[in-house]
Amino acid sequence: MTNRPALPPEIARRRTFAIISHPDAGKTTLTEKFLLYGGAIQMAGQVRAKGEARRTRSDFMQMEKDRGISVSASAMSFDFDGYRFNLVDTPGHSDFSEDTYRTLTAVDAAVMVIDGAKGVESQTQKLFEVCRMRDLPILTFCNKMDRESRDTFEIIDEIQENLAIDVTPASWPIGKGREFIGTYDILNDRLDLMDRADRNKVAQSVRISGLSDPKLKELIPAELLGTFLEEIEMAQELMPKLDHDAMLAGTMTPIWFGSAINSFGVKELMEGIATYGPEPQIQRAEPRMIAPEETPVTGFVFKVQANMDPKHRDRVAFVRMSSGHFERGMKLTHVRSKKQMAITNPVMFLAADRELAEEAWAGDIIGIPNHGQLRIGDTLTEGEALKVTGIPSFAPELLQTARAGDPMKAKHLEKALMQFAEEGAAKVFKPTFGSGFIVGVVGALQFEVLASRIEMEYGLPVRFEGSQFTSARWVHGTRDAVDKFAAANKQHIALDNDGDTVFLTRLQWDIDRVGRDYPDIKLSATKEMM
Ligand code: GDP
Repeated sequence: MTNRPALPPEIARRRTFAIISHPDAGKTTLTEKFLLYGGAIQMAGQVRAKGEARRTRSDFMQMEKDRGISVSASAMSFDFDGYRFNLVDTPGHSDFSEDTYRTLTAVDAAVMVIDGAKGVESQTQKLFEVCRMRDLPILTFCNKMDRESRDTFEIIDEIQENLAIDVTPASWPIGKGREFIGTYDILNDRLDLMDRADRNKVAQSVRISGLSDPKLKELIPAELLGTFLEEIEMAQELMPKLDHDAMLAGTMTPIWFGSAINSFGVKELMEGIATYGPEPQIQRAEPRMIAPEETPVTGFVFKVQANMDPKHRDRVAFVRMSSGHFERGMKLTHVRSKKQMAITNPVMFLAADRELAEEAWAGDIIGIPNHGQLRIGDTLTEGEALKVTGIPSFAPELLQTARAGDPMKAKHLEKALMQFAEEGAAKVFKPTFGSGFIVGVVGALQFEVLASRIEMEYGLPVRFEGSQFTSARWVHGTRDAVDKFAAANKQHIALDNDGDTVFLTRLQWDIDRVGRDYPDIKLSATKEMM
């Protein structure tokens, strides 16, 4: 992104990012501390407390808790050092990878949290690969340094080897485990010392002038100083210095060491995000890209969440603003339907509370309550027919037939299923031959989640049963070719919730056969959201 014009200050100060991590690495704790330093909450523990209060509301939420997964992702905004941070929460469980993928289309960077004792774990690796597909800049936080952790060089090597990314230390830990006393802030030539007595206290920072500063001797116990100096000398000799361009290109990650629970290293990480994190980026779209500094407002829906409040059947579409300065009450064109929508009650998620968003700038995330008009992938503009691209929908890997527990309620079931399909929680296919619905998901756990949500939110018992099909492929071609193909393969054809034609089968052989017999038809495992 060189040679780009300077962004308007309001946009330039926005940092929109997500946290990626393996369960238990400390994402929730870090989020809490972010909000604490962002002044959005008064006391750490509130995020969890609020979460818990919400969770007890239903069995579904109970299940979420039991399994340690977080299904209801949201976006939170807070200010730090003159910057506006927008933190988009990623669902934690691997079963929700599609949802996670789409969430990552709404951010400009990711913070990767790893556990200092465990290193790069499976889920981190998966999420990292998704970030790489988009060349997202990554900032790394190595957490739990207050406990026995791995050797610092080993941790850095592991990230480098497993994730094939250059790593540059932004800070260096002093002491290990019980002896961990803080870090040397390499980027700012500072010593940051941890206070174990007060977990919510911001670390004491001492500016020093280089590693030969006599203050080091006063502040670091003699038994730790020798090892620290040896390590840092070796690190500075062997490891690359921070190259900002490489970081922005996603080929180098700076790593901070800290302990989220002790509020340690968090402020330094936040300063890092502010100083080195990317500004709102250019958005890919058709027929042209969208630059954040453009005056007309544009945004796109990356997530839809239904029934956030079980008393109201509303849905909230989460919109990432791609350009301009949005003000409440604005009329925006919903490009897919070409209709105008007055956005009168957009919400912003400040900490754990919803608030009316009076305005929003490129980079911000707003929630727009609606009755189902807004779907994942939709673009909103001030009139120009632009369509944001790169928000895919993946072919489900598991298919099952949904049956209403009460046959009289089949219509209701259809409605519920369609709603979840719009939310992106599942794919729903209506076979053109026979009755019932085929529901497709990426991970098996989603069937359970769906069944309990349908029961909770619609009062409908539902059964999922094995389907004769195991694969779904979208059918592409001219209208004529698709119709002809569909007529000749009736038993295999279904329509998805957007009305697009899908080929269902249980044999790879069938998919290969279509490739041979129908040269004017293409089958694909992903479709761009319409
Ligand atoms: P998440 O699953 O990634 O959201 O992880 P949590 O934030 O819920 O943390 C998982 C566990 O690790 C919790 O018991 C936290 O209290 C604990 N934890 C988080 N940060 C630290 C840390 O810096 N040091 C230690 N010792 N424990 C931590």
